[in-house]
Amino acid sequence: MKQKALLYKGKAKSVFRTDVKGQFIVEFRDDITAFDGGKKDVLKNKGSYNAGVSAFLFEYLEKNGVKTHFVKMLDPRRMVVRELTMIPLEVIVRNVAAGSIVRNYPFKEGTKLSPPIIVIDYKDDSRHDPMLNDELIVALKLATAKELAEIKKIALKINALLVKLMAAQGITLVDFKIEFGRSGKTICLGDEISMDSMRLWDKKTNESLDKDVYRFEKGDVMATYNRVAKRITTKATAASPKKAAVKVPARKPVKNVPARKPATTKTAAKKTPVKAKVPTKPVKKPVAANAAAKKAPVKVVARKPVKKPAKKSSAKTR
Ligand code: C5P
Repeated sequence: MKQKALLYKGKAKSVFRTDVKGQFIVEFRDDITAFDGGKKDVLKNKGSYNAGVSAFLFEYLEKNGVKTHFVKMLDPRRMVVRELTMIPLEVIVRNVAAGSIVRNYPFKEGTKLSPPIIVIDYKDDSRHDPMLNDELIVALKLATAKELAEIKKIALKINALLVKLMAAQGITLVDFKIEFGRSGKTICLGDEISMDSMRLWDKKTNESLDKDVYRFEKGDVMATYNRVAKRITTKATAASPKKAAVKVPARKPVKNVPARKPATTKTAAKKTPVKAKVPTKPVKKPVAANAAAKKAPVKVVARKPVKKPAKKSSAKTR
């Protein structure tokens, strides 16, 4: 397969045309951004960690009956995907209250959300990804009512599968964001599922194992990504995850970010896609232990109350 012209460049991924009809190459770059691009860095190997986890999860989901755009990996950071007509919706599934739902609504961080809550945002950076409801989605012709029902059903199925997989690795799937596209009349999972697009907490220590480490400077981001990528992909098989016995240090204190306004002011930093090969660089430095990180039993994770903003205005926090 030959990589051809660049089709689209996002914050962390680039999509290229190829010489194969109906297939694109997604390159996971080492760029990382947060707060609506207000914080940016290039972190060596980040692209391949996210690509590896994404590929692994796409394969796991496919094996369990979820249609995805994933075809194969070309190398540790380049993924071949099927062409989809993307639907400009960000579908967020939440199992535990954290992030914007805590800033915007009176939920206490760590509260278990059962049944899980689905929130759908309009993927439009210029409008700061405002939250939608079903009527808006249909009125804007972003999806039909039937498609929307299908999207929600698939999102909940993906959630159930990922919760199970992560739990087997001692990880709580707090929330995640996914995107869908159409292949003919079929709704398929596109984009990526990675440490950039999921919120993951260690079940024992409540340590953040995702992009929050970068957002809130909780420790060594790449050491965390490397460790969690191995934990997700190496210690389990996609079909039948096995329990991982990875010990991790306690979490760092949560600083915080400005509250975003509900529905209208949301912004977003996007993320991107991956095959199951994850680089196995040694962990440089463990995430510093956190005295302030109290853990709590499974159901309601008692975290420290969110302190005050690092930023003014209701800027993006993603
Ligand atoms: O910021 P918020 O709490 O709404 O994010 C919920 C989840 O969706 C988080 O896991 C976050 O990483 C993910 N997300 C994302 N891309 C966005 C917005 C949120 O991956 N544009």
